[in-house]
Amino acid sequence: MPSPIAHSVSGYVLAKFLPKKLSKDYASHWWNLGNFYPVFVAIFPDFDFLPQLITGERFHRGITHTLIFAIGFSLIVGWLISYFRKSSFKKILLFTFIIYSSHLLLDLLTAGGSGVQLLWPLTDTFFKSTISVFPAVHHSRGVFDLSHFIFIAWELSYSVLIVSILWLWNNCCSSKFSE
Ligand SMILES: [Zn+2]
Repeated sequence: MPSPIAHSVSGYVLAKFLPKKLSKDYASHWWNLGNFYPVFVAIFPDFDFLPQLITGERFHRGITHTLIFAIGFSLIVGWLISYFRKSSFKKILLFTFIIYSSHLLLDLLTAGGSGVQLLWPLTDTFFKSTISVFPAVHHSRGVFDLSHFIFIAWELSYSVLIVSILWLWNNCCSSKFSE
């Protein structure tokens, strides 16, 4: 699974590429936490390590990595923000769902592991892409294994690449499209 590095940078960049009319409702007034919201949503599914730490039960990559949870999370958060902000529920719902789904997609595109139970509770099947963008993480090898450096270097390269694409888009193309 990608680390919070790839997830948060992906959420940040994806939010910048989404239409402004979709994101303006979360990004102004007192909820103006800048780019924190999409980053928070993009890494949220991996907060399931917390109940795992507390209870010792296996939670990681469980229910928070299912489409049904993504929909439920987007509905609740979308309703809360739109209620307090008096803004469009549908826009925040859609925005949140797209960013949340980016996490599931990145996890699907990771080598190693058994994948994610995307369609739980309809089916217990673990889904995983045959094409991997991210290398596997070997937790069992300890903190200082060489494979972790390869993994982190790969994620940093990926992050630099997508931020560069965003920068190029902002500096040469987006104005042409909006003209
Ligand atoms: Zn995850």
